[in-house]
Order: sequence, then C-alpha cells, then structure tokens
Amino acid sequence: MTASSTDIPLNTAIDRHVHTKLCCHASGEMEEYVLAAIQQGLDGVIFLEHMEEGIRGAERTWLTEDDFDAYFSEGKRLQREYRKRISIGLGVECGYNPDCSQTLISRLARRDWDEIGISCHFVKPPGCKEHLNLFSRKEGTLARVRDFDPELLLDIYFETLLEAVTVLPGTQLCHLDGALRFLPEIRLTDKHFEKIDQLLIALKKNLMTLELNSSGIAIRGEQFPTRSILKMAISRNTPLVSSSDAHKPEEVGRYFNQLKEAVTRTSLNLAGR
Ligand SMILES: [Zn+2]
Ligand SMILES: [Zn+2]
Repeated sequence: MTASSTDIPLNTAIDRHVHTKLCCHASGEMEEYVLAAIQQGLDGVIFLEHMEEGIRGAERTWLTEDDFDAYFSEGKRLQREYRKRISIGLGVECGYNPDCSQTLISRLARRDWDEIGISCHFVKPPGCKEHLNLFSRKEGTLARVRDFDPELLLDIYFETLLEAVTVLPGTQLCHLDGALRFLPEIRLTDKHFEKIDQLLIALKKNLMTLELNSSGIAIRGEQFPTRSILKMAISRNTPLVSSSDAHKPEEVGRYFNQLKEAVTRTSLNLAGR
C-alpha cells in the first residue's frame, strides 16, 4: 500500500465547471450561479464557458468573442461585489478542433483565464465535411452516430483529446468518458482504455488535473469518468478536481458528496482494504 493511493485529495469546496445562458444551451445569469454556489456553502466557483472554433453543420452552443467580452466584464463585477463571500474564477472550456488549433491557441492567449478546461464535443467522421456532436441527446444526431460506427467515433474522440492536451495550454481535462453518453449500448474497448492511459500520462506531463464531473450521476448514475478510469487515474496519482458542469443555477455543486465517496471507495479498493 502506498500513501499516495489512499490519500488522493478531492477539494469539493470549489465547483470548477459551471456554465451560463451565454452558451445558448444553459439557463441563468452569472450572478444566479454565484448565489447558488454561496447557498451550497462553497468557497469558490469557476465559470468554464464554451469556446469552439470552425465547427461546421451544428447550431451554436458556444460563446462568440463579443460574448466573452461581456462574460469578463460581468465576471469581474461579480468578483468585486462578492469578494468577501466567495472566490469567483473566469475560465473557459475549450473544445478542440484539430483543423483550427492555431486559432484556438491565439484566442486562448488573448485573455487571462483562471482555468482552461479541455474537451472535445464535435468530431468530423471520415469522409464528412460536417461535424457531429458526440454529446448530443437529440435523436437525429444519435441516429447518425449509430450509422457511422460509434466505436470508430470514439477512437477519433480520444485521439483528438490526446492531441488537445499536448497542443493547448490546458489546466483541466473535462468529462473524459462523457462522449456518446446518451448511447447506453456503448462500451469502451481495450484500445480506448490504452488511449485513456496515454491521456493520463499526458496530463501529468502537462501539469493538468482530471475533472470528476458529477453531471454523469444524473445521466448514468455515475460520475464522468467511470470507476475503472478513476482507478487508473488514482493509480497514476492524477490530481483530481470536482465539478458539476451546471447548465442551470440549481445544479451548482450537486452530488459532490458522491464524488468524494467515489474517490475514497476507489482509493481503499486499490489499497486492498
Ligand atoms: Zn454545455
Ligand atoms: Zn462539455
């Protein structure tokens, strides 16, 4: 038994991933999220709003640069207003698109982010000009995913994430196994697990954290990532952070006790206790 495998800390006093209505698929003003976080007794909340670049064939579910201007100005006002009650971070969830890596790098360099989350929501299936949203729950999108071979799409997804954590100046990897979460028949293959292990190694190398995302508990009864990946992460001493991925103010900080329990249970299990 090593000390590291039993004592992985998880700070559940900060929710490091919440959205706002600015991304066009969430509801609530920034201030409502701050008030919800205070009500939950949190010490901190970090906005992690969606940035995407060059996505074709999908409706906009991300902020424009003008939106980010408004986000920073309101965020800074809230930081001043609530400074005695809670710490507020202004971050970004950068969805990676390999076709636009340079533009994403320069857009990220333009602002002073408190956190840079990395994710990949959209992939371009082989031979296609348009992107497919792997996080959509819409029947039409799910039918197209099934047509294209979900296993192959996940190969592309994990490969894209691996490139993203190497290329972008990220600080946190978001909802690692959240792709295709609305296809219940999906099973990760050995090849996917190999990629995930490479990702965990890359996180360490790039001083990034792995997000434990409690939105999975509402969707599939378990956080993202699943227990077996959490086990791999704890074995590799990957720093873990807690997030709700709230898209409504009332979701801030939800199920954080369960995140903590999952980490404790998995650590004890690894230590053979
Ligand atoms: Zn979102
Ligand atoms: Zn996301």
